[in-house]
Amino acid sequence: MKKNDGKSVAVIGAGIGGMTTALLLSEHGYRVQIFERMPAAGGKMRRFSFADCTFDAGPSLITMPFILQNLFTSLNRSLEDYIELLPIEPLCRYYWSDGSELNAYSQSNRRIQSFRNFSDKADIHVEQYLRHAGEVYNATKDIFLFNPFEGVKEFFKIKNLPFLPKFPKLKTLTSLHTFNKTHLGDKKLVQLFDRFATYNGSDPYKAPATLMVIPYIEFHYGGWYPHGGMYSITHSLANLCHEKNVEIHYNSTVSNLYKHNNSITALELENGDIIEADIIVSNADAYWTHKHLLKENISIPELSSSGFVIMAAIRKHKHSLSHHNILFSDNYRQEFDDIFEKKILAKDMTIYISISSLTDHSQAAADRENWFILVNTPSTGGSNTWQGKSDTYWQMIRKRMAEFNILLNDEDIIETKFITPDDFSADLLASGGSLYGGSSNSPFSAFLRPKNVSKKYKNLFFAGGTVHPGGGIPLVLLSGTITAQEIIKRLPFHKH
Ligand SMILES: Cc1cc2nc3c(=O)[nH]c(=O)nc-3n(C[C@H](O)[C@H](O)[C@H](O)COP(=O)(O)OP(=O)(O)OC[C@H]3O[C@@H](n4cnc5c(N)ncnc54)[C@H](O)[C@@H]3O)c2cc1C
Repeated sequence: MKKNDGKSVAVIGAGIGGMTTALLLSEHGYRVQIFERMPAAGGKMRRFSFADCTFDAGPSLITMPFILQNLFTSLNRSLEDYIELLPIEPLCRYYWSDGSELNAYSQSNRRIQSFRNFSDKADIHVEQYLRHAGEVYNATKDIFLFNPFEGVKEFFKIKNLPFLPKFPKLKTLTSLHTFNKTHLGDKKLVQLFDRFATYNGSDPYKAPATLMVIPYIEFHYGGWYPHGGMYSITHSLANLCHEKNVEIHYNSTVSNLYKHNNSITALELENGDIIEADIIVSNADAYWTHKHLLKENISIPELSSSGFVIMAAIRKHKHSLSHHNILFSDNYRQEFDDIFEKKILAKDMTIYISISSLTDHSQAAADRENWFILVNTPSTGGSNTWQGKSDTYWQMIRKRMAEFNILLNDEDIIETKFITPDDFSADLLASGGSLYGGSSNSPFSAFLRPKNVSKKYKNLFFAGGTVHPGGGIPLVLLSGTITAQEIIKRLPFHKH
C-alpha cells in the first residue's frame, strides 16, 4: 500500500468515526483503506434481524442533524438522497412508579403545555433552565465541540477571549444534580434532567453541571430517526466508502502497530499480514489502542457506564408506550452508586424502551413490535462477568416493568437476544465494554479526554467516541471530521 508519496492512509475500525475520517480524506485525494474486525461496518451502530423484526442494537436517537448534513455536503452529496430523517415527538415519554407520566416535546408550545400540566411552575423553570443551558452551549461549542481541543491553552487564544466572562455560567465545579435541584426544584423534573448525564455514560451526582447542554441540544435540535432504522446511517456511510474508493476489509483485526522513532510504519493483522501506510488513524477504543496495539503501559481513567441490551420481538398487544420511553428508578442516587461505586447491577434500575416499529412499520412484521430495552450497567465487561447473569437480570427487569403496568406475558415474547458488557468488550474491543470511553464524572474530563492527534507519533491519529469531543453520534461525526482536518493540515501531500 505504501508508496511514500504521503497519501496512503490505514484506518483501524469501520465505526462511524472511522468511516467519517476515511471519507473526508479520500475526498481530499488520500488513498484510504479501513481494517474492520467485524464482518460488517458500524461498530456500536449495528443491526440485528430475527423473528421478522429488525433491531438497531446501539443508538436509537440522533440529534444535531445538521452535523450529519454537513458531512454529506463536504462529500459533495445530499443527505436527503441517502437518508430520510423523521422528527420524533414526543422526544420521550417518562414514567414514574407512582403512576405519573410526562411527554417531553421538542416543539416549544407542546413542551411548555406538557410541563405546565405536570407540576406547578414546571414550564417556567424548564424554559429558564433551557435558556441558561443554551447560553452555555453557544459560549462553549466552538471550544469544546467543533474544533480540536488543546486543553488549558484554549483559554489563552485571542479568538476565545469573549468566552472568559461566561465561564462562571458553566458551573464546572457544581454537579449536574445540584444544579438541577437548584433550578428545577421538583424532584421528578430534577430526575428527568439528571438523566441526560447518561447520554455520555456519566453519573449526574458527580458530572459537572456543564452537561446541561445535553438537554438543551435535545430540546433545541430535536430527536430524529432515519427511516429504515438508525442503521441507515451506517449503511449510507459504508455505501459512500464504496462510491469514494475507500476499501473496507472486513474480518480484519489489527493486532500490532510497528513503530520506528516517532512514526508508525505499518500495522499488522491477526492473520500475520503487514500493511504499510503513511498515515494511521485508530477508530478503535483509544485506551485499547495504546495498551494492546502500541503496547504502552497506560492507566485507564474511570470508564463511562456500559449497558445491558435486550432485543425482544414482541407480539402486538395493547400498551401505553411511545417510540422512546423511560421507566425511572425510585432511588436514582442508589442506582448510580451501584453502577459507579459498587460496580454492581442496580436492583432498582431505570429502564429505557425504544420501539421504532411504532414509527417505522418496515422494522417489524404486521403482528409484532421490535422492543429495544437498555439498562445502564457498570463497565466491568471483558472478564466473563456476565456469564449466567443475563436471564436472571432480564427477569428482574420484566418484574420492574410490570410495576409500571408494562406487562410482558410469556406468550407476548416471541424471541429475545441479549447484548452484555462482555459482548461490547469481546466484539468491539471497547475497554470494559464501556459505551463512551472515559466517563465525564470529573470537572476536568474534557481536559483529560484523549486527543485526536498522537503526542508521540507524528503520523498517528484517533477518531471516535473515546477521544475528543466524545461519544454519541453527532460528537463522533465531529471527531472524525476534526481528525481528517488535522491530518490535512499537518500532513498534506503534494498534488501533481
Ligand atoms: C447500546 C448503545 C446505545 C447508544 N445510544 C445512543 C443514542 O441513542 N444516540 C447516540 O447519539 N449515541 C448512542 N450511542 C453511542 C454511539 O453508538 C457511539 O458513540 C458511536 O456509534 C461510536 O462510534 P465510533 O466510531 O467511535 O466507535 P465504534 O462504533 O466503537 O467503532 C469502532 C470500530 O472499530 C473496530 N475495531 C476495534 N478494534 C479493532 C481492531 N483492533 N482491528 C480492527 N477493527 C477494530 C470495531 O469492531 C468497531 O467496528 C449508543 C451506543 C450503544 C452501544
